[in-house]
Amino acid sequence: MDFTLSPEQKAVQEKARRLAQEVKEDAARLDRQGRFPQGILELWAKEGLFGLALPRDYGGGGCDYVTYVLAQMELAQACPSSALILHVNHSNFGLAVNRFGTEDQKRRFLPQVAQGEVFACFALTEPEAGSDPARLKTSARAEGAGWVLSGHKNFVTSGNLARFALVAALTDPNLRSKGISAFIIDLAQTPEVTWGPPEAKLGLRGAESVSLYFDEARLPADSLLGDLNQGLKVMLAALDGARVGSAAIAVGIGRAALAESLAYGRRREQFGQAIAQFQATQWKLADMACDLEAAALLTFKAAWLKDQNLPYSTAAAMAKKFATDTAMHAALEGVQILGGYGYLQDYPMERYFRDAKAGQIYEGTNEIMRLIIARELLKGGGG
Ligand SMILES: Cc1cc2nc3c(=O)[nH]c(=O)nc-3n(C[C@H](O)[C@H](O)[C@H](O)COP(=O)(O)OP(=O)(O)OC[C@H]3O[C@@H](n4cnc5c(N)ncnc54)[C@H](O)[C@@H]3O)c2cc1C
Repeated sequence: MDFTLSPEQKAVQEKARRLAQEVKEDAARLDRQGRFPQGILELWAKEGLFGLALPRDYGGGGCDYVTYVLAQMELAQACPSSALILHVNHSNFGLAVNRFGTEDQKRRFLPQVAQGEVFACFALTEPEAGSDPARLKTSARAEGAGWVLSGHKNFVTSGNLARFALVAALTDPNLRSKGISAFIIDLAQTPEVTWGPPEAKLGLRGAESVSLYFDEARLPADSLLGDLNQGLKVMLAALDGARVGSAAIAVGIGRAALAESLAYGRRREQFGQAIAQFQATQWKLADMACDLEAAALLTFKAAWLKDQNLPYSTAAAMAKKFATDTAMHAALEGVQILGGYGYLQDYPMERYFRDAKAGQIYEGTNEIMRLIIARELLKGGGG
């Protein structure tokens, strides 16, 4: 087994590290103000980070997915909100269109998304269909040469800013989960779509989540992504890939929590010595470092399997579950290491704590990740 990074992977990792460092202070300020990180995203787009693992033919960087997760592990240390927005463009939308799209769809939708010129969103969740998306109610019927789609999606990251949306809708209600199709919608060409105000969230305050309302939205015939009634497969495949990226974002948040804990532990003195000299602090730091290393390795393995075109759904669920739980735990311990200061907005730890929590919920809760893993175990697979 060779853990050596290629020169290209190293170069992207170093670039992402530099670009994360450059925006660190801005990210903290924007979070406090609850503002959208436009400048950060523009910088990352200009530097080619939006399309890393999308093909060069469609405006991407042509890298492998391991390279993408290496970059996200750096970017998320500075601004998890921006990392998530980029991630939705790149993985939830971009990889799905690249895998299931026709040549025409790839040429139409991917270049702007891969260059970060427009935002894209992924609309699966509904008020009554969260962990169980097969129960979604949004529906689309064929009419004339196209489709008419109606329904309500919620928690849509970037839904109010996006130009393109990937939306799941029932096309054959009698078939239930086997009657769902995936649609790509150009929101700028679809006046029948409206959105609610951004949700007031605990963390990831720079990323905006909204409800999208489709009221008899008229879509052209070529809006279907993948085959008719194969939409759940499309959306779940997109989520498999995205979960590996979410795991990488979580590793980034966890590493930021560890770095801050170490720096603070070295400088804060109590009882006449740095608190990092107390064994109680050192055990916390050591556990954080071990768990983060394991989380990174699970993430790399899942990304590598994806790059080899090998089955990776279970590996993705393991990486997502373990990395997001690890980030949450690292941030929790980090707040404790900083004592009262960990609880103040003047220090970054409370933001890591709030941002880490979302990872245990989005792209399938960690309870659902355990269901996926256990199902594979019971089938006799090892993951
Ligand atoms: C910041 C953020 C961004 C998001 N972005 C998007 C987005 O861009 N697009 C999108 O479509 N969605 C998005 N989501 C929605 C997210 O994917 C859902 O919130 C998530 O899938 C859970 O659905 P729910 O909130 O309806 O919870 P529920 O499904 O109601 O679950 C509630 C609780 O019950 C548990 N539970 C449910 N079923 C089971 C079971 N079978 N076994 C054990 N426990 C179970 C869950 O684990 C959870 O703890 C986002 C969410 C957040 C917080």
